[in-house]
Amino acid sequence: MRKRVEAIRRDTLEMILEAARDTYPMEFGAILRAEGGVVSEILLVPGTIGGESHAIFQLHMLPIDFSVVGTVHSHPGPSARPSPEDLEFFQRIGHVHIIIAYPFSEESWRAWDRQGNPYELTVVD
Ligand SMILES: [Zn+2]
Repeated sequence: MRKRVEAIRRDTLEMILEAARDTYPMEFGAILRAEGGVVSEILLVPGTIGGESHAIFQLHMLPIDFSVVGTVHSHPGPSARPSPEDLEFFQRIGHVHIIIAYPFSEESWRAWDRQGNPYELTVVD
């Protein structure tokens, strides 16, 4: 059985923060992969950067394998809460979803479960 995801590696989180900053004011979206219950890799989704639609809508174009545990996307505004569209999408893929809001700092991201409840994700070195 797959281990429940409980943490994210600090360097992976930093990669996410950097990608969100680089992409701003556009949104970016990526797939989260985990190993042993720790999110340790992101897979950037081609075509999301510079696209007109909400980044998350591009995510289901990716092939999904067993190591995929959820998604991450950025919001160009200050709210890291999932939109109704986000929630609909969350229910289709994975079980942990990160939203990173402006200004894309260590304090401006939140993790959510597929129902949109806060999800406890520890940062590990
Ligand atoms: Zn969103």
